[in-house]
Amino acid sequence: MTAEPVIDTQDSPTAAVAPSTVRASLSPSRAADFKTCPLLYRFRSIDRLPERPTVEQARGTLVHAVLERLFDLPAAARTPQSAGDLVAPQWDRLVTEQPELATLFAADDTAGAAEFLRSAAALLQGYFAVEDPRRLEPAEREALISAVVDEELLIRGYLDRLDVAPDGALRVVDYKTGGAPREAFEARALFQLKFYALVLWRTRGVVPRVLRLLYLKDAEVCDYTPDAEELLRFERTVVALWQAIEQATARQDFRPRPSRLCDWCSHQALCPSFGGTPPPFPAAGAGDPLTDTRSRPVAPGADE
Ligand code: SF4
Repeated sequence: MTAEPVIDTQDSPTAAVAPSTVRASLSPSRAADFKTCPLLYRFRSIDRLPERPTVEQARGTLVHAVLERLFDLPAAARTPQSAGDLVAPQWDRLVTEQPELATLFAADDTAGAAEFLRSAAALLQGYFAVEDPRRLEPAEREALISAVVDEELLIRGYLDRLDVAPDGALRVVDYKTGGAPREAFEARALFQLKFYALVLWRTRGVVPRVLRLLYLKDAEVCDYTPDAEELLRFERTVVALWQAIEQATARQDFRPRPSRLCDWCSHQALCPSFGGTPPPFPAAGAGDPLTDTRSRPVAPGADE
């Protein structure tokens, strides 16, 4: 990338504040949950209900792992063949670290497991159709980034990749592996990228030049260019969202908001919109939403 970064000199980033002033944290995934459906936020962040991993989510995790490790190789070795060779060992590593993934396939379902690995390799071919990793040296991969906004709210999340051009321009890259209709998730994906852009602006003083979504299944690239004014507005949106979460928590009032995304929700059986009844609201302190530790991006059942 050769474009100059947008450096905002009029609205300088928020001055650093002592960590002791932070009383809440919010990840893009959880913020997007509340925006999508307040009850979904409650189920995930307050009740902390377990969600069984889906094959699609596991495939996304695997592909992300392979793409992260691919850049450990010397540039010339980052070939489709090398990526394919990483699939099985990375899956073995993930299953060791997250044993619940092993339950996705029955012990005798070797054909299902093999097809799963093949489908991950196919997504990686989609990656090579839109990028040549031999020409890239990412500055960050799977990096946890955070910033304090409004003096007391820590916003944080893991970005897939950050590229920094010689002139300092930043490009945030997010890999999308889901097979769900893109339009159902694009707003959520863009929200996530703006979240990262805001963190980078507040910590580095530079507005990222490009926010890039790489749709591996479709082998398509979607670039977005934010500006400082937009990120200021977005920051106000995030703070307002957090205030709304605090109010809903105080009132123990998280309403369902049905949408197309319900098709990917693990909690329909407990949702009033589907005839269910939510569990009693947890006692104060249980699943404290002020310590939102689940900051890894997870779309509702379809991506990542
Ligand atoms: S099923 Fe739909 S409305 Fe109900 S909690 Fe899930 S996302 Fe919200």
